[in-house]
Amino acid sequence: MYDYLIVGSGLFGSIFAFEARKKGYSCLVVEKRGHVGGNIYTKEVEGIQVHEYGAHIFHTGNKEVWEYIRQFAEFNRYTNSPIAYYKGEIYNMPFNMNTFNKMWGVVTPEQARKKIAEQIEKYGVDEPKNLEEQAISLVGKDIYEKLVKGYTEKQWGRRATELPPEIIRRLPVRMTYDNNYFNDCYQGIPIGGYTQMIERMLDGIEVRLDTDYLEEKEELDNICHKIVYTGPIDAYYDYKYGELEYRSVRFETEVLDEENHQGNAVVNYTEYEVPYTRIIEHKHFEFGTQPKTVVSKEYSAPWKRGDEPYYPVNNERNNLLYEKYASDAAREEKVIFGGRLGKYKYYDMHHIVAEALACARENL
Ligand code: FAD
Repeated sequence: MYDYLIVGSGLFGSIFAFEARKKGYSCLVVEKRGHVGGNIYTKEVEGIQVHEYGAHIFHTGNKEVWEYIRQFAEFNRYTNSPIAYYKGEIYNMPFNMNTFNKMWGVVTPEQARKKIAEQIEKYGVDEPKNLEEQAISLVGKDIYEKLVKGYTEKQWGRRATELPPEIIRRLPVRMTYDNNYFNDCYQGIPIGGYTQMIERMLDGIEVRLDTDYLEEKEELDNICHKIVYTGPIDAYYDYKYGELEYRSVRFETEVLDEENHQGNAVVNYTEYEVPYTRIIEHKHFEFGTQPKTVVSKEYSAPWKRGDEPYYPVNNERNNLLYEKYASDAAREEKVIFGGRLGKYKYYDMHHIVAEALACARENL
């Protein structure tokens, strides 16, 4: 008999397992994929750590989280500074003085502010009825047309004029020449990839790969006292109230026989006519100098059951549906629900670390 059965070897399940083992509890981790790590899994190709399920940059403003995660890996000084490609032009992201200088030739923050205000005055509306009007009312036409429109339309699979304004509440503009995407004070990539970080968490813990808990529920329930379930909550309840919706992402990954393909880890393609949203060049996350390179084109994709669920669609319908499942979950005595799928919420890795630690504190 195990004290804990942990369903899913992603970041949440692995941290919980580590904490449980530390306290002397016996654990079994079951994972339906053929590898540990969930979506932060990285795989070595040509000496390069490839982020198989999308680019993952660890960032946090929480010192406790930062100290905690660094016991499992050494982090490098990677700083996320994506660039945007629009019809042959390159712009810095997030929107900052470098972006405005390239767009309009302005040099000082005062000039940039004036230019944006002019644009909003000329094209903005008081009560935006769709995403296009909303975005233009926030940053003006030029930034919207070149850097927001096509990217957002590809992400949502719909034209900006058909999307609700609420999707974009704010479009932060930064009046400094600072290309660092995140405002958090701690940021980096684990040297040697995320998988080895997870392997350290799971060191000494029994893990069964290629094991779908829901397919072997009865036997597995019988060999443990408690369960930590990090899979989709609606699947746990056999979709009895209906299906929660996600947006998915499709990756096309290839090895290129060149040393440096795009000079940056992340390049966003902001024009609608280019079908992918981003190209990731993985070696740049670790300042790699390997002779070859690996790139992944990212395509935003609709989701149907069986596809990889990436981004929860937290609209009114889905949130209400989730509440129904969550109230059933709250009545469970043996099962704890956690992680992005168990809580149907978009969590960054630092949120997951904090949530998993809180869950461990509460239950162990
Ligand atoms: P998961 O990693 O999904 O782990 C759940 C595990 O449970 C999976 O391995 C799954 O196979 C397994 N499982 C599910 N059902 C079953 C079952 N029935 N039986 C057995 N096993 C099961 N965060 C950042 O901080 N920075 C970033 O740059 C960043 N980029 C991202 C990019 C993309 C494209 C996406 C989608 C997310 C990104 N994130 C990022 C968020 C990050 O991926 C998550 O915070 C984190 O992976 C969530 O961990 P988890 O353990 O909750 O879920």
